[in-house]
Amino acid sequence: MTQGATEVVDLLHASGRILAELIAADRDIPPFPRSTRDGYAVQVADLAKVPATLTHVGEIKAGPQPGTIPPLNRGQAFSIMTGAPVPPGANAVVMVEYTSLRNRSVEITRSIEVGENIVAQGAEARRGTVLLNRGERLDHAAIALAASVGKARLRVFVRPRVAVLTTGDEIINVDAALDAKSGSMQIRNSNAYSLAAQIQEAGGVPVILPIAPDEPRRLRQLIQRGLTSDLLIMSGGVSMGRYDLVEQVLAEMNAEFLFTGAKIQPGRPVVFGRVRSLGAGAPATKLMKSSARRKKSARSLYQCFFGLPGNPVSTMVTFELFVRPMLEAIAGMRPRPLQFLHARLKSEIRVNPGLMRFLPAALSGEYEHSQVELVRWQGSGDIAARARANCYIVIPPDREHTPAGDWVAVMLR
Ligand code: AMP
Ligand code: MG
Repeated sequence: MTQGATEVVDLLHASGRILAELIAADRDIPPFPRSTRDGYAVQVADLAKVPATLTHVGEIKAGPQPGTIPPLNRGQAFSIMTGAPVPPGANAVVMVEYTSLRNRSVEITRSIEVGENIVAQGAEARRGTVLLNRGERLDHAAIALAASVGKARLRVFVRPRVAVLTTGDEIINVDAALDAKSGSMQIRNSNAYSLAAQIQEAGGVPVILPIAPDEPRRLRQLIQRGLTSDLLIMSGGVSMGRYDLVEQVLAEMNAEFLFTGAKIQPGRPVVFGRVRSLGAGAPATKLMKSSARRKKSARSLYQCFFGLPGNPVSTMVTFELFVRPMLEAIAGMRPRPLQFLHARLKSEIRVNPGLMRFLPAALSGEYEHSQVELVRWQGSGDIAARARANCYIVIPPDREHTPAGDWVAVMLR
């Protein structure tokens, strides 16, 4: 993909996509003064003393023929429906609950302020006001807004292609039969699938590469293949073990490491970097363009990569913390901070301090009674525990003991 490439999609297929155009109000919203209640359109001055009796002069429903609504005069009331245009001359709507209709007169038992139960023409947005910006992720409300201004099709950014390279001699494809001899030592490639799901959720298209063995030549080949995508994500082989070859192979390719390691658990060995590829037209992440070379005609492009630890929960957590924001940026989305909720801790937590912890947890309760507790787990290889959880409790690095009842930060994904 060329960074910034766009395409047009039908509104029905726009959910989750990143908007690549400005959406403006094509007319005032609302286009007329709108009643927000079923009731009676009145002049406030007529209700200075209540109860007051007004003459019932007709009914206005939503969608009347323009020009058919006569003005309201002193002493009169129109019955009016929610969403209907308020007649000229009326300056408030009394809810039907405070009225009673007898023959041609309406008794009103409550006084009212000017403008009550009316949204003035253009109060939500004036014609021409920008309603949605480039870089906005389209959720159901944004889609409703686009629909409300008549945009049946939207220009969105093309989804970035994200290569997924899993590594490890022990890793096998999920549909492969276990080896007769070594099968008990083989591990199915779950990371390719969790990453593919997270990439899709974040707005990318996963491209799953063959599993790389712990052998430099083949690993290098596959890394090179992965670097032709918009972003390369590797899992495994970034720890301190003898067969953790990812960093070594990347260093041989003159990769620049922008960080190696983070003070988090799980996920400590995560690495992020870029590899330079000379020449225009090479598919690459241009975000990392070197400023010194920006002016040269042969553009110097960088392809970014992440090396995530292979332990499945570490892979998931590091994706959320580091890959998702990067992927969102490549996808054209405006930057946004990571979001955390807060909930009351159900039972105490004790950890060794020093690292920020992301601990699989279950968030429960409702409304203002949210509470959260750890799920039992065997560490960052425990996929079953993560699947039982619906969030992570985040413990800051200096917190050894968090008592039950404390408010704790919760990361939802
Ligand atoms: P590594 O980061 O390569 O040292 O791997 C750490 C742990 O994660 C080991 O137990 C691996 O077997 C496991 N692991 C690595 N890659 C995968 C994968 N693609 N799917 C499931 N588990 C994996
Ligand atoms: Mg490994």
